[in-house]
Amino acid sequence: MQDLANHPLWLRVNKDGPVPEHCPELGSCHVWTGCLVDGYGQLQHPNTKRRVYAHRLAYELANGPIQGGELPVKQRPCVCHRCDNRACMNPAHLFLGTHFDNAMDRVRKGRSAKEVPSKWRISPSGVREILASTASTQALADRYGVTNSAVRQIRLGINRKSIASGGNGVGMKRDQLR
Ligand SMILES: [Zn+2]
Repeated sequence: MQDLANHPLWLRVNKDGPVPEHCPELGSCHVWTGCLVDGYGQLQHPNTKRRVYAHRLAYELANGPIQGGELPVKQRPCVCHRCDNRACMNPAHLFLGTHFDNAMDRVRKGRSAKEVPSKWRISPSGVREILASTASTQALADRYGVTNSAVRQIRLGINRKSIASGGNGVGMKRDQLR
């Protein structure tokens, strides 16, 4: 086993990376200058010889091994970036969350508008109106700013569990809306 903390692979890290604009107090990113996959640094682990994410390895070196590998994917811990710089491996910029947290974080930061569950954003009164309305699916979708299939699902009652109540995420059953 090699001493990873002093391993020459850290020569491939640029510690004078950019300072994140939205949180300058974090200081400079430590940017991996080797292989990037989908923006994330990847390297061959010097001991196991397996390909690993650079930011995960950096996190584990600073904080110890990440537990929970046996959990279902959505609950499995993943290492997220406060700085939004995928190639960054500054331990101070990394935090442990779940894949779900990571996805919600992206949505909050507006990085993936298409992941925003906009069809959940109809208020209970809007749902009532859709259920009572005889207008076309297209007209209702336009009025509430949702997809046609969201309107169809509400009409069919398929989506009743995921209809948020006023946007606070509380699920409502269709019969509670009557
Ligand atoms: Zn960073």
